[in-house]
Amino acid sequence: MSHIPFLQPAAFTGLSEAFYRYIAPDPLNRPYWVAKNIPLGEQLGFPADNWDEGMLHYLGGSAAHYDPAPFATVYSGHQFGGYTPQLGDGRALLIGESQDAEGNGWEWQLKGAGKTPFSRFADGRAVLRSSIREYLCSEAMHGLGIPTTRALAIVGSDDAVYREQQETAAVVTRIAPSFIRFGHFEYFYHTGQHQYLAPLADFLIERHYPECKQAENPYLALFEAMCERSARLVADWQAVGFTHGVLNTDNMSVLGLTIDYGPFGFMDTFDRRYVPNHSDTGGRYAYNEQPYIVQWNLSRAGSAFLPLCDKEGLVAALDRFPEQYRQAYLKNMRAKLGLLEEKENDSELIADLLELLQGRADFTLFFRYLSEVGNVHDEPLPQRLTGLFAEDAQRPLQLWIGRYRQRLRAENNGHEARRERMNAANPLYVLRNYLAEQAIRLAQAGDYREIERLRECLSEPFTEQPRFADFAGVPPEWASEICLSCSS
Ligand code: AMP
Ligand code: MG
Repeated sequence: MSHIPFLQPAAFTGLSEAFYRYIAPDPLNRPYWVAKNIPLGEQLGFPADNWDEGMLHYLGGSAAHYDPAPFATVYSGHQFGGYTPQLGDGRALLIGESQDAEGNGWEWQLKGAGKTPFSRFADGRAVLRSSIREYLCSEAMHGLGIPTTRALAIVGSDDAVYREQQETAAVVTRIAPSFIRFGHFEYFYHTGQHQYLAPLADFLIERHYPECKQAENPYLALFEAMCERSARLVADWQAVGFTHGVLNTDNMSVLGLTIDYGPFGFMDTFDRRYVPNHSDTGGRYAYNEQPYIVQWNLSRAGSAFLPLCDKEGLVAALDRFPEQYRQAYLKNMRAKLGLLEEKENDSELIADLLELLQGRADFTLFFRYLSEVGNVHDEPLPQRLTGLFAEDAQRPLQLWIGRYRQRLRAENNGHEARRERMNAANPLYVLRNYLAEQAIRLAQAGDYREIERLRECLSEPFTEQPRFADFAGVPPEWASEICLSCSS
């Protein structure tokens, strides 16, 4: 009997076997818990006292028996602009599906549980370092209210894994309504197996986009919905200063979820050219490129929809993307500024603010502290805010604040209520690279407590939590030296 009795066979296996291959996990030796997300477990129907040895082995790939049978799905994708015919699932196994109290299905995936037939060269493993980053960032994103896959647990082992240096292995349990990527469509399109495109789209519509059924062409409606969700997603990332780092089409969810956390980064000091992934030397996936890249990725997914719909419809959907993105971004930024009305000059006010912040001030803390600025013309600014800027930036700061205050007064925006709204829109805590790095270094020395502290803090990033005051400041000097590569 399975250690997760409520885990059902995933509906995905109702699709033809062209989509997946059953495969047994490759067990981690002498597994141990690195992280248990007990609140998420409870949400999924897994009681706190069930995190026993059996569960440890089940999620570490070393259970004697898996029921339902785990499987890997097949996808391809465009990596850094070029097409790669087969990419995954290289090291992720889907172990089944649960239902929450509202009747929503959740797929469970073990990442790092061994090779699959779709990973011909790599080792099928994930290292502890990247598993901790994926676990923490999934939960941080969810705390921020940004669509994302979730993370339930990390199981570690002393098994050696070789990257730039020798590291140890871990398995993350990921949870999502679906792990289907743009790359799943691309695979069947580019291999000429077009007969599988409609069943894949039907599966998605039935389970995740039922509203598309009413459309004249449900497949076009599905693609339009993918465009809309992707526009909102990237607008959400921009508003929190998040850069994904590897926005290949195989790392794009058809549900508009943030997926595949690798060399991502939340900016400290604002830098529109921010590139967290040190292997991305051309800056293809820089912060300010993300909206364009997401649209390009949608165009790649759109090609795979050509056998299903008219080209004109697909092109029109792609053409609407920039405006959808712009609207979503403006909405997010107005919320960050605490504005109530939409005014024509808002884009300019925001662009000039970013110019002021560029290379000068901490992105997260600037917006958080801005909520303390009153509306009165010459009232002195809070020291916490001015303290984010060097001497030579004080005058530009004052000038921008002057315009902001004018804008606030023009719509009778009261300070008290604005402060509350702004604090609900601007996190105090984000997963800064150095915070993840601190938790990783401790974990590599066998102390996992910082992971849980961070997860707990980041699950409520908008609420000031005095016990986590150490997570709320500007980063230390050494933060700028952290080097992130693609290796994971
Ligand atoms: P990424 O750019 O990290 O998303 O990697 C692209 C694809 O390569 C992933 O979807 C995986 O299927 C596969 N992959 C990455 N690392 C490994 C690994 N260590 N073993 C097997 N497959 C891997
Ligand atoms: Mg990936």
